[in-house]
Amino acid sequence: MRRTLVPRMEPFSTSIFGEMSTLALETGAINLGQGFPDTDGPDEMKEVARAAIAEGRGNQYPPVHGLPDLRLAIAEHHQRFYGLELDPATDVVVTTGGTEAIQSALLALCERGDEVVVFEPWFDIYAVGIALADATRVSVPVRAPDFRPDIDALRGAVNDRTRLLLLNSPHNPTGVVFTREECQAIADLAIERDLLVISDEVYEHLWYDGHPHIPLATLPGMAERTITIGSAGKSFSFTGWKVGWATGPADLIRAVRAVRQHLSYVSGGPFQYAVAHGLRMPDSYYEGFRHGLQAQRDILTSGLSALGFSYVESEGTYFLTTDLGPFSDYPDALAVARDMPHRAGVVAIPQQSFCDHAGVGDRALRWAYCKRPEVLREAIERLGALAKA
Ligand code: PMP
Repeated sequence: MRRTLVPRMEPFSTSIFGEMSTLALETGAINLGQGFPDTDGPDEMKEVARAAIAEGRGNQYPPVHGLPDLRLAIAEHHQRFYGLELDPATDVVVTTGGTEAIQSALLALCERGDEVVVFEPWFDIYAVGIALADATRVSVPVRAPDFRPDIDALRGAVNDRTRLLLLNSPHNPTGVVFTREECQAIADLAIERDLLVISDEVYEHLWYDGHPHIPLATLPGMAERTITIGSAGKSFSFTGWKVGWATGPADLIRAVRAVRQHLSYVSGGPFQYAVAHGLRMPDSYYEGFRHGLQAQRDILTSGLSALGFSYVESEGTYFLTTDLGPFSDYPDALAVARDMPHRAGVVAIPQQSFCDHAGVGDRALRWAYCKRPEVLREAIERLGALAKA
């Protein structure tokens, strides 16, 4: 046989999202697996993208590190929402989605022998990016049953080989939003051990009443060690546009830029104009967006709860975590996820696919509620019919 995929990439040759989306198509199931909204973002942003294409703006390679006006808009956004001061010339880089920002940061900062500490369950691309960099993943399980970050365990995972912490709040897949106290404890550790941090904050605007998002870079001593990741896909419901960014101190962003420019070089010129516009929309856009998603969250949460699923309150993101509910007699979440499309016509994602340790996510399902209310209600009805049968 020909030698093809390098062994360290072999574990990533299939993904649970691919498997579950195929199952959804084959069975006609409602796909509450993959996290993308089924309603597009603001028309005014589409209009800006259309005008840019028509007027010939961004149809050829835009500037390598991002359109200057988009970098300025990102800096203004971080000032408006978080009081953070960024120099758009040096502290911002536009990327092909949050994904490329994360992977470029990992490739820029890590190599063989370096350890990257993540909370588990993690978002799947973290494992891939760490493997691409040939670094080592060290995962720290979050604490059941409420999935809070375990800061003592995080501390225990840090050693002399630790290169950086790769963190995510609001957290996919659990829906947990780190509190100020939790963020402060993480910051204390990072400062004490002089660690770099990649803070994946793509869900920065998707948090719900009483659970505000705290950007790690806003804590004293953190701005100079943190690369923060953002995504227009998440903040404006245009996941297909694939515009994201990394922000942080000039030396760290210089490193990210050095690698990223050789990956996709540039991305989506006309969309960059539209995202610059979106970032400058009034606060009312962001509030309306959050409240809309919160209402969708409530529909799914109360529906699943009434069917006997126990849940962890989703404080942010697109996702709700539940136990196996009426499927408790199944061996694990993967078995439920594989059978539910056939039996109930609904797809969810097993959280064990994002875990290294047995027992952490094997009784937990992730449900995406970034879907129209009628779709969520139909999913609940289908599950309810099964429960009654
Ligand atoms: N981080 C997390 C936690 C995510 O859930 C996602 C998207 N699912 C990304 C990063 C990537 O964002 P983008 O689509 O902008 O590449």
